Amino acid sequence: MKKELFRFFKMNDVEYKENILLSSISPIRIGAKATAVTYPDNELKLALLISFLEKSKIKYKIAGRMSNLLPPDEKYEGAVIRTDRLSDYTINSYVLEVFCGMTLPHIARILQNAGLSGFEGLSGIPGSIGGAIVGNAGAFGRQISDLLLDVRVYDRSNGYFYSIKASDLNFGYRSSSIMHSGIVITSAHFNLLQSDPLSIKIEMDRCREIRKNTQPTDKPSLGSCFKRPCEDLAAAWLIDKCGLKGYSIGGAQISEKHAGFIVNNGGSTASDYIALSVYTAKKVYEKFEICLDREVEIM
Ligand SMILES: Cc1cc2nc3c(=O)[nH]c(=O)nc-3n(C[C@H](O)[C@H](O)[C@H](O)COP(=O)(O)OP(=O)(O)OC[C@H]3O[C@@H](n4cnc5c(N)ncnc54)[C@H](O)[C@@H]3O)c2cc1C
Repeated sequence: MKKELFRFFKMNDVEYKENILLSSISPIRIGAKATAVTYPDNELKLALLISFLEKSKIKYKIAGRMSNLLPPDEKYEGAVIRTDRLSDYTINSYVLEVFCGMTLPHIARILQNAGLSGFEGLSGIPGSIGGAIVGNAGAFGRQISDLLLDVRVYDRSNGYFYSIKASDLNFGYRSSSIMHSGIVITSAHFNLLQSDPLSIKIEMDRCREIRKNTQPTDKPSLGSCFKRPCEDLAAAWLIDKCGLKGYSIGGAQISEKHAGFIVNNGGSTASDYIALSVYTAKKVYEKFEICLDREVEIM
């Protein structure tokens, strides 16, 4: 598998790194090695790579910034396809076209300078455009689907590129029809509003300050581990009421600052993280008879 994979990378000029520790590229600093981590820099290379991996029956995972993905403790025998190099953008009047690998903080800064409003509340989410659309990421009362016009996708099932309107993506709370669909987002259009750079900056600073004061921004994590069970009930509140703040299994700990976050307090494994999330959900169920649904995806 290794030989043909590396030959493919070289022949098609696709950037890759061999035998990379996933913990070194994961925001939670967990994960064993992967055979390869690869960085295609245009959508044709991405499609070619996926088609090759499918035909060769080599395991792979599309990843943005892995800020919602828990890497495994055992070696990942396959390719992790990172979208970091797919990060061009153009702004035409109030419409932004952006490739899937651009991060939300980066695009928010660009839009702030351009005096275009919409991404302020999303500016602290450390994920890519692609990952954010798939999971309909949101914060401060705004979800990315609120701004989305359409996505351009590569459909692994038939090898075609085409566009899908946002209204056809069946967005819900932290969900979309793209999840588990075999479709890869390559770029997207967003509709923005004109505003002035200073008021956009003030709003972004306000959101950043709230995050800094309420979340463990100084510790490796994957953000909130669980979804809200319903609109006006936070998982963090339920976990806190179970007295679990600061509770640890191995190196994984329920943050003392925000009970919805599981942080890596040093040396956490994926098994620690999973065991702690299972234990937490069990405790919440015993006390409130509410089932918590994990937001973080296990790779
Ligand atoms: C400190 C911290 C704070 C966070 N705060 C928030 C928050 O306020 N709100 C929120 O919603 N989330 C939050 N998150 C979670 C996370 O940042 C979001 O879910 C983010 O949108 C994930 O983007 P990503 O690029 O990291 O996706 P990844 O974790 O890399 O991938 C997530 C899923 O999307 C798929 N995927 C990625 N790119 C593509 C693509 N181009 N096409 C098809 N599938 C793709 C992956 O295969 C995977 O299934 C936070 C995380 C951290 C670490």
